[in-house]
Amino acid sequence: MAVPLHVAQTFTYRLTPEQSKQAKAGARIKVPFGRKLITGYIVSLHDELPAGVDLTEEEIKDAASLIDLEPVCTPEILQLARWVAEYYASPIGEVLKATLPPGINPPPQGTFVKAKLRRFVRLKPTDAEPKKITDKQQRVLDVLAQHTSLALQALLKEADVGAATVSSLEKKGLVEIFDEAVRRDPLAHTSSLPAEEFTLTSAQAEVLDSIVQQVDEETYGAFLLHGVTGSGKTEIYIRAMRAALARGRSAMMLVPEIALTPVFSRRLRSHFGDQVAIFHSSLQRGERFDEWTRVRNGEARVVIGTRSAVFAPVQNLGLIVVDEEHESTYRQQESPYYNARDTAIVRAQKESATVVLGSATPSLESFHNARSGKYQLLKLPERIAARPMAPARIIDMRAVFVRHGKPRVFSDELLDAIQQTHDRGEQSIILLNRRGYSSFILCRSCGETVQCPNCDVTLTYHRSERVIICHYCNHRQAIPKVCPACGKKYIYYVGEGTEQIEEMLTQLFPALRVARIDRDTTARRSVFEQSLADFSDGKIDMLVGTQMLAKGHDFPNVTLVGVVSVDAGLALPDFRSAERTFQLITQVAGRAGRGDRPGQVLIQTYHPYHYALRHACAQDYDGFYNEEIHYRQNHSYPPFVALGSVLVHGPDLARVRNDSLELRKQLDAVNEQRRCRILGPAPAPLARLKGEHRFQLLLKSRSRRHLREVADAALKAVSDNGVNLRSVNLEIDPVSIM
Ligand code: ADP
Ligand code: ZN
Repeated sequence: MAVPLHVAQTFTYRLTPEQSKQAKAGARIKVPFGRKLITGYIVSLHDELPAGVDLTEEEIKDAASLIDLEPVCTPEILQLARWVAEYYASPIGEVLKATLPPGINPPPQGTFVKAKLRRFVRLKPTDAEPKKITDKQQRVLDVLAQHTSLALQALLKEADVGAATVSSLEKKGLVEIFDEAVRRDPLAHTSSLPAEEFTLTSAQAEVLDSIVQQVDEETYGAFLLHGVTGSGKTEIYIRAMRAALARGRSAMMLVPEIALTPVFSRRLRSHFGDQVAIFHSSLQRGERFDEWTRVRNGEARVVIGTRSAVFAPVQNLGLIVVDEEHESTYRQQESPYYNARDTAIVRAQKESATVVLGSATPSLESFHNARSGKYQLLKLPERIAARPMAPARIIDMRAVFVRHGKPRVFSDELLDAIQQTHDRGEQSIILLNRRGYSSFILCRSCGETVQCPNCDVTLTYHRSERVIICHYCNHRQAIPKVCPACGKKYIYYVGEGTEQIEEMLTQLFPALRVARIDRDTTARRSVFEQSLADFSDGKIDMLVGTQMLAKGHDFPNVTLVGVVSVDAGLALPDFRSAERTFQLITQVAGRAGRGDRPGQVLIQTYHPYHYALRHACAQDYDGFYNEEIHYRQNHSYPPFVALGSVLVHGPDLARVRNDSLELRKQLDAVNEQRRCRILGPAPAPLARLKGEHRFQLLLKSRSRRHLREVADAALKAVSDNGVNLRSVNLEIDPVSIM
């Protein structure tokens, strides 16, 4: 039995003979745990004590009660959860919980999410002697005679009687009152868009053919679909899913973020009707439960959703699509850690399905896999109707600085473009890829950022200690007074956030109606959707925001996209910073000029010759890949090594530091053959979070197996030495090491 808590181990309980007959793996069960009763999941059933369980008969506790007769986890999901738990070193109970709709576990007291029931009434056939009935009762019977059944509330209204009348009829055996589940439909209030039917371009038809052929094989097969933005990938996904359905199989599509594209959900409803179930975290609990239930009992055979939808209990899976496969939102950033894209690949393997990863800017890992033949590469190099890409231009902010003799947030080029765009009655998007918790330092004169001597990443400014630190290896140094590269004294801390930018633009352009979109303003979905709708209706002239603006939207009147600064993103202390910046700029360039009018993209930077920017402006993925893959190889980063990170956290700084040093000692001890490279401990980039101190270590190895062996052995050793493993998180394949 597994418990939905951060503990790796499973627990053994005794069942009564009756319970044993009904118990099934994957079902929920109530058991005494500590002093409480909690809900767990049966992972396996044994007639005898399993090997390795070191308990006497007396020590085994009795289970309290079974919750499900029909298991909530299908055998496929149980098997997939086992893989996730094993591969990502995540507690199996937490993984199983993540596969289920939230709120499905009964808390010790109170209610939990379940089907929403409504009372219905119908006539009950009877041969008994007719009984004496009142006028009111007769009215009820008359109304019911016209329906097979009727909701109680509707009946009371139509017959104009109180509930007592119906219950007296029930007592007489003339009517029957029963409960029926009513569906909470997340799309109930959205109208469906009429399904457009295009003739596929020949390039699209070829790609679709390859995918459908693979689905027909009914064996595992993986594709990487590399298609520029607007090349018609979504159309292919929809047709491939329809093909899978037509062959009696189910289909699943994972998307990074569904709330951003309400239009897309409507399009799906028009194609698949009630066959489609939607999974994402901004649905209400009841809606999520009902959608999950419809999948579990086979009513819905198409699943669209974010990360956790990969665990949807669809049967007979034929196809999985992972749209925008490079997106880091596929990675769950808290325990249980898993990457939904990689889990989708494994699920497809286990269930003999076809999997299609799609992107305009594939992740380095996926493209590497395509090059090495692990995935078949499909390409759509042209936009539909040969619509041109908006030209992107780099603005060298070093020159702007020299010209003005002082730092400027906006170049004249960008300001002019904003004004001209507005004069033409067109709209603009201003983007900032700044995640703002720690600053780094930059020379305004030459563009130099201060790098770690060991790790080839930017050092991060820590305000409290007034030093710059490497978050990989803990190298630290004082803040230089002059630039180490050019000797000038124009060192500064990079730091404007979206809020400040919005304020400045409002002052500079009082005539423009400006709205801001970022994580702070999107906390409320309604506000966010309203801003997007207003922008779409032309009630707003300019949107200012973070990278969430770069994706998915289609605003035909947007002809200018300005990126205020990409430098914060380029200099993040993360080996993926160049890749992320390349992806961002490429996606952004796809936003401008979607309609008939030509668009332009302006990118302000102090690194005008950075390869990520150069290739993004040229829309040259292959060029970027070839440079980036060398960097990864030379500096031993994925996909050439397996990466693991260990985070030690807790409220007591001394203890966290000691525990992480102890962990380092044990890692070194088990790493005798030097098969792993171990870095740290160093303070994590978020050195204090929610009142806890955080230290991190990094492990790199050419062999994933060795990496795990070393990590597991060291964790066991520190645990034996009294370190509480609840304060230690091991992350395999971290997407970000920030
Ligand atoms: P992607 O997912 O690659 O960005 P989409 O599938 O959204 O591209 O297609 C871009 C645009 O082209 C959409 O407006 C879509 O409706 C349209 N489109 C797709 N395929 C065709 C086609 N074969 N003929 C005409 N229009 C198409
Ligand atoms: Zn370093």
